Amino acid sequence: MPDDALLEIDDLCVAYDGSNALNGVSLRIGKGELICVVGANGAGKTSLIRSIAGIVPSSRGSVRINGVEISRRPPWDICEMGIAQVAEGRQIFSALSVEDNLLIGGSLKRARHDLANTLDSVYQLFGRLRERRDQLAGTLSGGEQQMLAIGRAIMSKPEIMMFDEPSIGLSPALTDVMFGVVKSLNEQGITVLLVEQNVAKSLAMSSRGYVLENGSVVLHGSSRDLLENPDVQRAYLGL
Ligand code: ATP
Repeated sequence: MPDDALLEIDDLCVAYDGSNALNGVSLRIGKGELICVVGANGAGKTSLIRSIAGIVPSSRGSVRINGVEISRRPPWDICEMGIAQVAEGRQIFSALSVEDNLLIGGSLKRARHDLANTLDSVYQLFGRLRERRDQLAGTLSGGEQQMLAIGRAIMSKPEIMMFDEPSIGLSPALTDVMFGVVKSLNEQGITVLLVEQNVAKSLAMSSRGYVLENGSVVLHGSSRDLLENPDVQRAYLGL
């Protein structure tokens, strides 16, 4: 991992009604890295992202970006500090147009000064969204809604993008397109935390990975080592 950690998570715990979803998770992401967190259904992947984003409160532990503690801050503050999430299930505003959804993403202080350029870069990335800029977001196809969710996050000019299962519900061809987009955003300098059930694909495109089981990190290391790990191969790769 690069020396300069951008995001540092220590001993993070999340509980719902007294039952633990995260049991002391620690991880680091260096500036410019693309790392993945993999695990089965219910392992705690979404809880991790939602807790970093300030949407679910942690019961213990710390989350720091550039050394600044954010674990007690509200979600909009965390977005303003440069962390954007692309949620599982998209969570777009169905009754608003495509463009209005994007403009909401760009309404943060950190993004407002460059709104027109960022909107243009989103439309260059996803020509479909430009074509459908006036269409109600709720009438987009599943894949187009995923593009919109990614576009809206880009509009906030984030330093870190967290993707929660971007491949879910997409065809194999569209899944490849989405993974390509994630990779290219990283190559443009955005640090990426990718949460996925598609273990083979996400390890193949990341530099490091963490394996989450029952709310705990049970393995972490370079993605290459994890791909060759017999436990990972047996449990997640069907080998
Ligand atoms: P999946 O891949 O199925 O989305 P996940 O790894 O993202 O799973 P989480 O959604 O974080 O896992 O769930 C972790 C645990 O916390 C699960 O046992 C889940 O039932 C529980 N959980 C998640 N959200 C809530 C909630 N709002 N209230 C109560 N329990 C919850």
